[in-house]
Amino acid sequence: MKITADTGSCVASGQCVLLAPGTFDQDEETGTVVLLAEEPAPGEEDAVRQAELTCPAAAIRLTGA
Ligand code: SF4
Repeated sequence: MKITADTGSCVASGQCVLLAPGTFDQDEETGTVVLLAEEPAPGEEDAVRQAELTCPAAAIRLTGA
């Protein structure tokens, strides 16, 4: 599973970080998503899928899932 996160459409809700803190972070200044790795951190596969589904900006895309 590969993850992409579109910082241009991210609205800095922080939902993805709450769900999968080992995979997503937020920029300290803008609050927009920072992808920590291209693949989910160990044990966060389901949380990353959940983040894709619940991101209010549809900024998270998964491929090869
Ligand atoms: S859940 Fe979506 S909008 Fe919210 S911080 Fe993550 S990528 Fe951005």
